[in-house]
Amino acid sequence: MKLTRRNFGKLLASMGATAFLTTYKSEVVRAFEDAKDKGVKLVWLQGQSDTACTVSLLQASDPDLYDAVEELKVQIAFHTTIMPDFGEKAIRVLEEIEPDVLVLEGSIPTGNMENACTVGEVNGKPVTIAQWVKELSARTRVAVVGFGSCASFGGIPSARDFEGRSPTNAVGLYQFFQSNPKPSVPVINIPGCPGHPDWLMTVLAATLLGVNIEVDGLGRPKLFFSQLIHDNCARRGFYDEGWFAESFAESDFSKKKCLFKVGCRGPVTYSACAETKWNGGVNVCMNAGAPCIGCMHPEFPDAVSPFYAEQRKLEIDATKTLFGSLTTAVLVGAAAYIGTHIYKENKENNLKKKKEGEKK
Ligand code: SF4
Ligand code: SF4
Repeated sequence: MKLTRRNFGKLLASMGATAFLTTYKSEVVRAFEDAKDKGVKLVWLQGQSDTACTVSLLQASDPDLYDAVEELKVQIAFHTTIMPDFGEKAIRVLEEIEPDVLVLEGSIPTGNMENACTVGEVNGKPVTIAQWVKELSARTRVAVVGFGSCASFGGIPSARDFEGRSPTNAVGLYQFFQSNPKPSVPVINIPGCPGHPDWLMTVLAATLLGVNIEVDGLGRPKLFFSQLIHDNCARRGFYDEGWFAESFAESDFSKKKCLFKVGCRGPVTYSACAETKWNGGVNVCMNAGAPCIGCMHPEFPDAVSPFYAEQRKLEIDATKTLFGSLTTAVLVGAAAYIGTHIYKENKENNLKKKKEGEKK
């Protein structure tokens, strides 16, 4: 079926992420082409980040950022990593522009630490990223997008120190717009450390076409964040059989073991990673021998740490978290999985004992 503005959303929802991206990649490219006549303007702000989300985007399989900028003429009006302009000329763009889409990469320091991240100066005074997000989101015409876990929910800069606080009071768009005026356009969060480039391109194409992207309570596109990684993992059969890697020596896929005991967070993390995979659908963490560390979990990294420790050993105090009710929901899910896991382990031990008894 031909992809049109009308059926974009329906096809996206009915086909699922993988099939949609595989079937309609060239049409997603065309969505950007359609936008070129309208002179679509995109502003990409960087808060507290390591630029890995930009690097991730530059590696988008199709369409890639180079195509978008050079061939498809979506005007990236501001992006500190790739734009040629600098100094006053660059900052003037931020002062004057009415972006169609505002993308944030990195987290926003707040409160008495707001000055921890500033972008340029106006009238000789540094402007905080919090101030730019407030001003530009109010002027944005189509959508505000948080790309990556830092921009969505605070990510690594929001991790709590030994005193139980984030050193820069870092937040993502989700928390930022709880205490600041919400923009009139949708706010869409695409968490991940880094964010998935193909998912961002799909969301951008849809929003530029005027297609409504259905999001959950945290602003995440339901298309990519409705299912647990665990439910689509290629190692799920090993989990169901109770075949667990006890150490990383057994993590290679050929050993046919599930990575639960070496810390996999697939059972508590919602994302389409296992379906769409990464690097153009080539691979994903668990298949490559690395347990999922829950980088797309809304409370990454605190709620999923320490990494590489078995899940049932984790202690999470839901009352101290930013997403108390969500954590509780996730914990209930985790408890169910852990219960099943313990049941399987007991069942395995009983079978072993039974067999040993039979031999005697
Ligand atoms: S625990 Fe991890 S490795 Fe095992 S099946 Fe679930 S997602 Fe896959
Ligand atoms: S599988 Fe887990 S760790 Fe890997 S990218 Fe997805 S959410 Fe992040």
